[in-house]
Parts: sequence; structure tokens; C-alpha cells
Amino acid sequence: MIELKTAREMDLMARGGAIIGALYREMAQRIEPGVSTGELDRFAEDFIRSHDGAVPAFKGLYGFPGSICASVNEEVVHGIPRDDRTLAEGDILSLDTGVVLDGWCSDSAWTFPVGEVSERVEALLDTTRRALDAAIAAAVPGKHVGDIGHAVEETVRGSGFSIIRDLVGHGIGRKVHEEPQVPNRGRPGSGTKLKEGMVLAIEPMIAVGTWRIRTLSDRWTMVTTDGKPSAHYEHTVGVTADSPRILTTAADATAPAS
Ligand code: MG
Ligand code: MG
Repeated sequence: MIELKTAREMDLMARGGAIIGALYREMAQRIEPGVSTGELDRFAEDFIRSHDGAVPAFKGLYGFPGSICASVNEEVVHGIPRDDRTLAEGDILSLDTGVVLDGWCSDSAWTFPVGEVSERVEALLDTTRRALDAAIAAAVPGKHVGDIGHAVEETVRGSGFSIIRDLVGHGIGRKVHEEPQVPNRGRPGSGTKLKEGMVLAIEPMIAVGTWRIRTLSDRWTMVTTDGKPSAHYEHTVGVTADSPRILTTAADATAPAS
């Protein structure tokens, strides 16, 4: 069953979402060669908890040990933050963060370049970011979940990059993961019809090489099987009569309308 949210409930989700946006603006200042993902995780947990009532949604979720997922280069998602995982010039770091505030969840991911990255990787970040924007634009009443995936496909087409197929976005609300699933590929007009009040975590993951992934022996970290880098951008988005309402702010965006 898909739980529809009121405008008031979206306001509450946007409060948690704004914390993630603010966290990512702080992170952008801290991500540099020599910093460990363990340090970033501690900063994130303290930052989130410094907001009255806010807690990291991922800590302990299905047993995940971190407050953030920190995935470097070929790591697509679910990288476990570690003190011995130190960033180097030219890496990319995908952070994925959830916040629960007053019983409502928000979820957002962002890929950060570490110093100067290659032109190819720069293009990967740009394409993935544009895929997210296009997917969000499709989140309007009357369209379907398949239109969101189709928008991602159309953006990536011709780039030579590939869409990670086995991981999908999701509904979100009182729980981090709710129905429906939101794949990053799809046929226009297919799948669940979008209705005012749905809130979706839309999250394209795009790789330089193969779309195939595997899970490392830590049982969390998912990597591309060819070891080539992958990017990930995600927003929590409310479907409204007016226009898609982004409830999580971007690392380089202003605060969401509330
Ligand atoms: Mg996420
Ligand atoms: Mg998500």
C-alpha cells in the first residue's frame, strides 16, 4: 500500500531534509585528500544529532553500522565508513544520508569530487546529476513510475555510461523504505500511477563502465564488477499538484521552499 502524505507531513519531512542539505554543505568543506570516511561519519552523526530530535536514519537500519554510507570510486552504495579508508586526490565519494525527525524520514545522496577528478569522471557526475533532475521533473500527478526511470534512461543515452539496474529508489515517509519501488529504467506510462501526496526517494546510480555489481565480503559495500567508478545523487521528492517538491536540499542549493 502506498501511503499518501499531506502538505503538512511533507513540511515535516522537509525539516529533516534540510538537515541533510546543511550537512552536505558542511561536508563539501571537509572532503579532501587525507580525510577518512570514519571521520566524516562521526562529523555527520554529531551534526545530525545537534538538531533537536533528529537522528541518523541509517544507523542500525538492517544492522548498518554507520550514520552515513560512504562509497568511494567503484563502490556504488552502502560503503561502511572506516578510519582506515582515506580519501585521495581524484577520488569520488558518494555519501548517502537519512534523517528521522519527529517520526518522519528523509533520504538524500550526493557524490563529491575529491580535489581534481578526471574529465571522464567529471562527465559522470554531470550526467548523473542531470539524470536526477530529469527524473524529478517527471514526478508529477498523472505520470507513472516508469516515466521517472525513462527520464533517467533518456539522460544517460549516448553518454556511454550505464545505469545500475539492480538498485532502485523507493517511497519514503514514516519508514525509510516504503512502496513503490522507483527503478532508474522504465517505459513511459508503465508502473504505478503517480498521485498527489506520494513521496519518493529518486536516486539514479550511474557507472562509467558496467552496470553489474557485487557485494564485498563486509556484506554491505556494493561495487561495480569492473572496478570503474559510479556516481549517485538522490533527493526525497513530494508529488504535488503544482510541481515536484524537493524535500532534501542539494549540497549547492538554497533551502527548500516550506
Ligand atoms: Mg539514500
Ligand atoms: Mg534511498
